[in-house]
Amino acid sequence: MTNDILKTSIEFLKGVGPKRAEVLRKEFGIETFDDLLHYYPYRHIDKSHIYHVSDIVEDGGYIQLRGKITSIQVAGQQRTKRLTAQFSDNTGSIELVWFNGIKWVQDLLQSKKEFIVFGKPAVFNGRWSITHPEMIDPYAQTDSSVPMAFMPLYNTSDVAKKKTLDSKALAKLVQNLIPVVQCVIQETLSDSILNTLKLMPLKQALCQIHYPQSSQHLANAAFRLKFDELFFTQLKMLLLKQINTKRIQGHVFGKVGDYFNRFYKECLPFDLTNAQKRVIREIRTDMGSGRQMNRLLQGDVGSGKTIIALFVMLLAKDNGYQACLMAPTEILATQHFDKISKQVAPLGLRVEFLSGSTKTAKRRQILEGLQSGDVDILIGTHALIENNVQFANLGLVVIDEQHRFGVEQRAKLWRKNNVPPHVLVMTATPIPRTLAMTLYGDLDISVVDELPQGRKPIVTQHFYEKDRLRLLGFMKQQIDAGRQVFVVYPLIQESEKMDMLNLMTGYEAMERAFPLPQYALGIVHGKMKPEEKDYEMQRFLKKETQILLSTTVIEVGIDVPNATVMVIENAERFGLSQLHQLRGRVGRGGNQSYCILMSKYELSADSKKRLNAMVSTNDGFEIANFDLQLRGPGDIQGTQQSGMLDFKIADIVKDEKLVAYTRNMAIQILEADPALQNPDNRKLRDTVAEMMKTETNWSIIG
Ligand code: ADP
Ligand code: MG
Repeated sequence: MTNDILKTSIEFLKGVGPKRAEVLRKEFGIETFDDLLHYYPYRHIDKSHIYHVSDIVEDGGYIQLRGKITSIQVAGQQRTKRLTAQFSDNTGSIELVWFNGIKWVQDLLQSKKEFIVFGKPAVFNGRWSITHPEMIDPYAQTDSSVPMAFMPLYNTSDVAKKKTLDSKALAKLVQNLIPVVQCVIQETLSDSILNTLKLMPLKQALCQIHYPQSSQHLANAAFRLKFDELFFTQLKMLLLKQINTKRIQGHVFGKVGDYFNRFYKECLPFDLTNAQKRVIREIRTDMGSGRQMNRLLQGDVGSGKTIIALFVMLLAKDNGYQACLMAPTEILATQHFDKISKQVAPLGLRVEFLSGSTKTAKRRQILEGLQSGDVDILIGTHALIENNVQFANLGLVVIDEQHRFGVEQRAKLWRKNNVPPHVLVMTATPIPRTLAMTLYGDLDISVVDELPQGRKPIVTQHFYEKDRLRLLGFMKQQIDAGRQVFVVYPLIQESEKMDMLNLMTGYEAMERAFPLPQYALGIVHGKMKPEEKDYEMQRFLKKETQILLSTTVIEVGIDVPNATVMVIENAERFGLSQLHQLRGRVGRGGNQSYCILMSKYELSADSKKRLNAMVSTNDGFEIANFDLQLRGPGDIQGTQQSGMLDFKIADIVKDEKLVAYTRNMAIQILEADPALQNPDNRKLRDTVAEMMKTETNWSIIG
């Protein structure tokens, strides 16, 4: 009942009204009292202390000074007009600068003697100055209704600011809100957790996060709220996993039959690595248990995940089920299809390919084959999850390069059968442990932590434009030795034209350096039709072309063992995991391979770090960790749309330990009380139930 207050439309908060409500909703997604309560400040300004000019240090952040204006000067014309004032206290002086509202500021500065100045000092022309400081009348302070000690700062937007909703206005609204909602905030954690961990009660934390009494209170509030976010995410995931494994029965893949064994004995072109064998065993056990499998297969580029998937698909066949394999791009799906249909040809299986570009007649044929159970293995793109694709008896779904598929898509696959199929998802590049725990907490994880024998580590080098002749010479040497070369250009959506231009200019330059008839070049880019791309890929695979120029369409999965050189143009424009993915396109055969990162001279600090990381390690797990630290989780490819990392206050990089801690805690609680039925766990159960009700991601699955 009391909760209804929290669900009240924000429009009805004192100081809001319909117009501001509209802005709050559009700009910040704030629709209710509760939403505003959870709109945390990004930082606070410590106004509990007054500093001296002589205290100012570099990167010291916002401070408060008290002193007098000693002179005022207006310079410049119209747009360049600015007001500079000298401000001093007993310890020194500093410059205050305004570019806007000059007339108003001038009046203000002339009207009073003494000010408290608030802002962030920076060095300009060798002097400390503060641009657009906040000017506070020290004598008016007492009657201000906003508590002065810790001022919350809220993220806002240009649109909102124009409509008077700047950080200060938001602070004021929160101040109106707190007394209204304070008494209805319900505790989410059990007493035992609160007491053992000495956590701040939720009610207090939600108030203190906005208006803390002290920095210690602020820290405790932040910790409590982070704890909530991470703990309930884990609890939710684990409950989900429990529902899958306990309630959702799975097909029993009880036997290892002829197809599996014959493939192993007669068709396998190499020995499996120990890691591959172990993972196959893990999967077999899981699929034989009678529970539905939901497993994530992690492994570095080139660790041989595809063959594992194939073995698992053969197990499905051995047990009388169909299997499908879904890849994120047409090129990759085609390549999987070509390879797998060849590999299993001696077994007499029917393998089909389905994508958006499959012709109608062929499509009909395939759909019929799927429904009659004639088709054993279906390989394709997103087209596989469309509703009209129906199977006779789908037992297994393999998703390659999982990071592009969300939880919802996974859920869609589950519904393709009365008894949901086993699901195996394979990552393109490894993801760090904390991220995996959070993003895929509902899955079991297998790791292929070993590369096939005989792989020579790829040599990675960073070249600048001045090294281009050397690059061309090196490419020539490799090509003359019978090898092939990839040259990749960045693709950034906002400037598609520029990218095409880049690619085309690059192509012309390469053509001059590697002329026909001695050399042949191929080109692949996103604007080409699937057949055209495929044609070019095939030419490269058959060694009819020696150099393949492309945009990042070749990024994932492509396997051309004879290619030994990966040249990445404008490497500074790629993300780290993308670079690592691209590098993984070479080094797949027995020959020494190279990755050359071309870049311009002036590089940002981050770009430098990325390129250095690439040169210094070949290990995908290391790269992934590094990437996570450099970019933060929100930017890791594919995690944006998942919505699962939308933490308001927790940061899975910085709060890595808390992620692990809360996960273990959730595991322990569920082990002792799987359905959260103990009275002590009631609050937890209510909280999770409430979350699952409101989040679409979860309701589909439940
Ligand atoms: P990824 O894990 O990146 O998907 P792939 O499955 O494409 O890697 O395998 C990379 C290459 O290694 C392929 O050419 C594959 O045939 C080969 N391969 C896989 N397993 C082994 C192995 N145990 N020994 C030798 N080569 C292998
Ligand atoms: Mg792969």
